[in-house]
Amino acid sequence: MCEPRLDDPAEASIEDAIRSIEAEMRDEYLQPHAYPWVIGYSGGKDSTLVVHLAFNVLLGLPKSQRRREVHIVSNDTLVESPLVIKHIIDSLDQIKEAAEALRLPIKTAITRPPTSQTFWVNLIGRGYPSPNRTFRWCTDRMKIQPTSGYIKSRIDEAQNVILLLGVRRSESATRAASVKRYDNGERLNRHNDLAGCLVFRPIVELTTDDVWEYLGEYDAPWGGDHRKLLKLYRDAGGGECPVVTQKSDAPSCGSSSSRFGCWTCTVVDKDRSLEGFVESGFAEFGALLDFRDWLVSIRNDPEKRQARRRNGSITITSTGTYVPGPFTMDTRHEILDRLLRVQSDLGTELVSYEEIEEIKRVWSEELTSSAFRRASTTVDTINKDRA
Ligand code: SF4
Repeated sequence: MCEPRLDDPAEASIEDAIRSIEAEMRDEYLQPHAYPWVIGYSGGKDSTLVVHLAFNVLLGLPKSQRRREVHIVSNDTLVESPLVIKHIIDSLDQIKEAAEALRLPIKTAITRPPTSQTFWVNLIGRGYPSPNRTFRWCTDRMKIQPTSGYIKSRIDEAQNVILLLGVRRSESATRAASVKRYDNGERLNRHNDLAGCLVFRPIVELTTDDVWEYLGEYDAPWGGDHRKLLKLYRDAGGGECPVVTQKSDAPSCGSSSSRFGCWTCTVVDKDRSLEGFVESGFAEFGALLDFRDWLVSIRNDPEKRQARRRNGSITITSTGTYVPGPFTMDTRHEILDRLLRVQSDLGTELVSYEEIEEIKRVWSEELTSSAFRRASTTVDTINKDRA
């Protein structure tokens, strides 16, 4: 186990709190069953602390007692902020190497949405308008489903899993309410949507200061310290987008408090993490910010949207509000062209070859359907016809 770098008696309280959390984690790990742990790792401070403590627990046990597998799982939406996904990939590599060298039963994994459900295939291929608070089609497809798929596979193998999440009551009022809603007074709570998944929130009572204090004082057990993480937060200027495994957690994804979300996120008013990175010297990300802002600006432009949905129907809500259909085919081409220009200027892959192929497949399917011929009228044309 790693040693503290500073010897300050004032640290006793955080020391005690962490000791008691580790004791509880150890007790759970030593329960007489074989259910694996799955730790949702977003690369942010809270899930980093949970992984850190899990390492400590395993290192403190004799090899004969390290019987249960520990899976550390991150999700890559394929539109993550570039520096954040680099941090996740680099730190998972380090964790994997250290676990192998120390013979810890740790496995690492990164889940991703299938090509048919990525941000670009839905936005450019199917023409879904960029997500907003009322039509947030992204979180389930790009985050919840991939992570849930991984958890379900572990449940198939072992009947149950224990999902460790780095959620804390003091994160926000929304988080406090969600913790309260699912708190049954026991250590483990049933997952809302996944049968066989039991949720363990070991650091639920820690404050943000506690988390930073501990990460600042102790080196990462997989090597190095947590300074890179601290710098990432400083550069981004704040919060994070957490691991999301159920719809009731989804409001925290893409909320005003989350800043480590997808760089394409149009649910937030401003992408503060990208803005922070640009202000911290990563000027190249300015092009991503401009692209995101342009996506926001065209979302409700009637000339860019079909009047009807892809199946040819017109949507009127129960309150009588007319809802336009997806982006027109011309607009989808325009978005792809612009995206490819930004990609070429940046020299970093933003949309993959597989996604472009899938986009073309969706387009050709749509162009040959009879519903498309009815659906392709723009909102403007319909308004003009009405006039
Ligand atoms: S960060 Fe934004 S774009 Fe990404 S999944 Fe969450 S709400 Fe959607």
